Amino acid sequence: MKDYNDNDTALKVNKGIEPPPVVNPNLSFLKHKSPKKYNAKQYIDGILARDLTMLSKAITMIESSSPLHADIAQEIIEGCLPYAGNSIRIGITGVPGAGKSTFIEAMGKHITQRGERLAVLAIDPSSSRSKGSILGDKTRMFELSANANAFIRPSPSAGSLGGVARKTRESIILTEAAGYNVIFVETVGVGQSEIAVHSMVDFFLLLMISGAGDELQGIKRGIMEMADTILINKADGDNIKKANLSKAEYKNAIHLFPPSESGWETKVETCSSITKEGIPEVWDIINDYANFSKQNGYFSYRRNEQAKMVMYETIDKYLQTHFYQDENIKTLIKNKENDVLSSKISPYVAAKDLLDKYFQ
Ligand code: GDP
Repeated sequence: MKDYNDNDTALKVNKGIEPPPVVNPNLSFLKHKSPKKYNAKQYIDGILARDLTMLSKAITMIESSSPLHADIAQEIIEGCLPYAGNSIRIGITGVPGAGKSTFIEAMGKHITQRGERLAVLAIDPSSSRSKGSILGDKTRMFELSANANAFIRPSPSAGSLGGVARKTRESIILTEAAGYNVIFVETVGVGQSEIAVHSMVDFFLLLMISGAGDELQGIKRGIMEMADTILINKADGDNIKKANLSKAEYKNAIHLFPPSESGWETKVETCSSITKEGIPEVWDIINDYANFSKQNGYFSYRRNEQAKMVMYETIDKYLQTHFYQDENIKTLIKNKENDVLSSKISPYVAAKDLLDKYFQ
C-alpha cells in the first residue's frame, strides 16, 4: 500500500519558491546584464553620470576590433568630446621593475586624498604580442583599484602599437567625460611606446632606479630628452646615497640636452614609493608644470598640435584601410608583389601602378 503522495516524490518537479531578492537591487552591474545592448546615447549618459560600468563597457566598445562596434564607438567619442579635456594628462614610463605600479599606487593615494579623481590607463606593447599583459595584471595597484576616486584600466591588448595608442587616446576622452581630472598613461620603457604616450600627454615622467649598473638603464637619450621630470625611485634605506648620486649625475646630463620646446627645465628628483618620501613634492612639480605651461600658452598649443596629429593619422589610417580593402587592389597586389620579387619591376613602379589604379 502506498503511504506517500505522488506529488511528493523526487520524480515530480516541484514549483519551488521565489528566489530571495538580490542584496542591493540598485547595484549598477546587476542591472547591466551582458546580452543587453545599449545605444550611443545610453553610453554617453552613463559616462556623464559617472557610471563606472557604462564607462568600462564603452571603453570595451572602443577597444573592440569588430567593425560592428566602430560606428557606435565613434558616436560615443563624439558625444563625450565636449565634456573632455579638463584634466592633466601624465605619461609615466620606466623599465620593468623601476617601480611604476608602486609609484602610481603611492601617488594615486596622495592625490585622491586631495579630492582629485584619477584614471590610470596603459599602453603595453608586449600585450599586443603575447596577450599576457603585464600592465593588465589586476593584482597590481591593489589599494588603488579599491579606491572610489580611481579608475584603472589595463592596456588594450589587440593590434599594432598605433592601434593600441589610438584606443588609449580615445579612452582618455571617455574617462575625462566621466569626471576624471588626472589621467596617468603608463608604459614600459622599451622604445616606441614612449613616443606614442608622449604624443598624448601634457607631462612626461621618467622613472629610474639608481645603482642598477648602467646609469642610463637602457633608456635611450631621446626618451630622457622627452622627460619633464626624471624621478629616481627607491630612494630609501641603503639606497638613499646612491639615489642622490644618480640625481647629481642626471642633473649634469640634462644640461647637455637641447632646451625643451615648452621652456620648462627638466627636473630631477628622488622619491620612495614605499616610504612615500618625495611623493607630495612630485605632485607639486606636476602642478607647477601645469601652471607654467598654461601661463606661457604651451599647454593648449601642445594639445592643439596633438589634435592636429590625430587628424593626419586618422586620414592616413583610413586611406590605408580603404586601399587594401579595394577589390581591384586585392586582385592586383599579389601579382605586383611577385613582379617585385622576381625583379621584373622595381618596388616604386609597383607601388605607383597600384596607386594609379586605385585613384583612377
Ligand atoms: P614596475 O614593473 O615598474 O611596475 O615595478 P613595480 O612597481 O612592480 O616594482 C618592482 C619592485 O620594486 C617591487 O618589488 C616593488 O616592491 C619594488 N619597489 C617599487 N618602488 C619601490 C621603492 O620606492 N622602494 C623600494 N625599496 N622598492 C620599491
